[in-house]
Amino acid sequence: MRTKVFAANWKMNKTRKEAKSFLEALKKSKFEGREIIVLPSFLSLADAVKACKDTQIRIGAQNMHFADAGAFTGEVSPLMLKDIGVTHVLIGHSERRHLFKEDNALIQKKVASAISHGFHVIFCVGETLDEREQGKTRIVVREQMEALRGLKDAEQLMIAYEPVWAIGTGKTATPEQAEEVHSYIRMLIAQLFSKSAAEHIRILYGGSVTPENIAGLLAKESIDGALVGGASLDVKSFTKIAKA
Ligand code: PEP
Repeated sequence: MRTKVFAANWKMNKTRKEAKSFLEALKKSKFEGREIIVLPSFLSLADAVKACKDTQIRIGAQNMHFADAGAFTGEVSPLMLKDIGVTHVLIGHSERRHLFKEDNALIQKKVASAISHGFHVIFCVGETLDEREQGKTRIVVREQMEALRGLKDAEQLMIAYEPVWAIGTGKTATPEQAEEVHSYIRMLIAQLFSKSAAEHIRILYGGSVTPENIAGLLAKESIDGALVGGASLDVKSFTKIAKA
């Protein structure tokens, strides 16, 4: 049985004060048999780790540089994240890929570094609308998944399938569309790692998830939770999703 995971990707939203009041409210709910991860901005990470100590909420960063230290102005290193108690890192989000031009080679270095530093990694993949319409979804996802080849340890890995055309657009993939790609990703995991890894690694769906559409997605065999953007900014709506 794979435990369902729900991750809140706040992106560039919420001040420290807003983050604190969200987490205080979230802590009041019990999420039986579920894993909850919140990904605030870098500036709120240390407070968030403290606020969620001894709770079931885990705190993750939305990005990370691959190097431990060095001349990388404006970046945050794995050692800095570890130092404040962050346990999870999101890598390869489509906004990083498209707006900040992160390519598969850079993303591969980040994943390898994060895993070697002991972080749990939520690794994002997904095609654009153009790529889907040209029938290239599998090709794109396979190329992105190649960034995982050679990783020594798949234990700390989760995959988030996030079709770019569904992110922040209000257009969710249908449960069938999502399941089709999730089961393809599971097959790729078996090829890259092992059959057992394919059975254990959680694959989250992301892209306009709401309290209204989550149940249909979770009903699918290969959908193990959700990476939630817009709907995670409101504690009531994120709580409903995570309890679905
Ligand atoms: C995301 O950015 O990870 C995401 C899934 O966003 P949204 O839920 O707003 O589509």
